[in-house]
Amino acid sequence: VIAVRGLTKSFGSLDVLKGIDLDLMPGEVLGLIGPSGSGKSTLIRCLNMMETPSGGRFTFKGQEVTTRFRGKGARIGTGELRRDVGMVFQHFNLFPHLTVIDNITKGPRIVRGQSRAEAEALAMDLLAQVGLADKANAYPSHLSGGQKQRVAIARALAMKPDVLLLDEVTSALDPELVGEVLAVIRRLAEGGMTMVLVTHEMGFAADIASRVIFMEQGRIAEEGSPDEILRNPRSERLRSFLSRFH
Ligand code: ATP
Ligand code: MG
Repeated sequence: VIAVRGLTKSFGSLDVLKGIDLDLMPGEVLGLIGPSGSGKSTLIRCLNMMETPSGGRFTFKGQEVTTRFRGKGARIGTGELRRDVGMVFQHFNLFPHLTVIDNITKGPRIVRGQSRAEAEALAMDLLAQVGLADKANAYPSHLSGGQKQRVAIARALAMKPDVLLLDEVTSALDPELVGEVLAVIRRLAEGGMTMVLVTHEMGFAADIASRVIFMEQGRIAEEGSPDEILRNPRSERLRSFLSRFH
């Protein structure tokens, strides 16, 4: 779905991504792990152009993503890309002044041009899937962190994305609320949703990821199956990184 070549990103003199090559296949769940500051968030933010890459290129479904870099062939603009590549954040980012259902229907109505009835039917379906059908008319401030995050996932899904980017979606949650959010993500994975999952939940990544990438200092340091990367890490640096999570 996504092919990244030589992607770089700098903030001023700080080189955060130093040449990333990455291929994301349909239905794949890619786990992205690595130390704080290694560039995980920056990388996935580049994948829906919330950050503009400094160099390199990438394609989405074979279309060159429009940047200041010239390429040949079909192109896709950032608006279109963001419609099809959804993102869920650590801190939910729900609209506080809108009810749960309005949070979910806003994007499809404005960006996808759906009618209210159509958008609300889809939203109710998604709320049922994340176990929150009874919260449609609640405001975000009346929800627990785990409920807010499940609404945020439903909101992203309402756009019918081809790819879902998840950036540490459980790390702001109280421990007892993590499980309900992971359960939703697990069901998405089983349903074949293509995802990039930045996470510190190593056990969960080992369970659901089809492939794991270990980033270090703006580069992909290691890449392989969950068995290779998480269960039987070979390199000392990876072992030492993972030992912090046991
Ligand atoms: P964490 O696990 O803590 O979330 P990360 O791997 O997601 O870390 P990034 O957030 O991608 O790391 O940040 C990588 C580096 O880029 C850090 O040094 C960070 O300070 C820097 N950085 C990120 N965003 C910006 C920005 N908008 N302006 C300047 N520097 C930034
Ligand atoms: Mg981050």
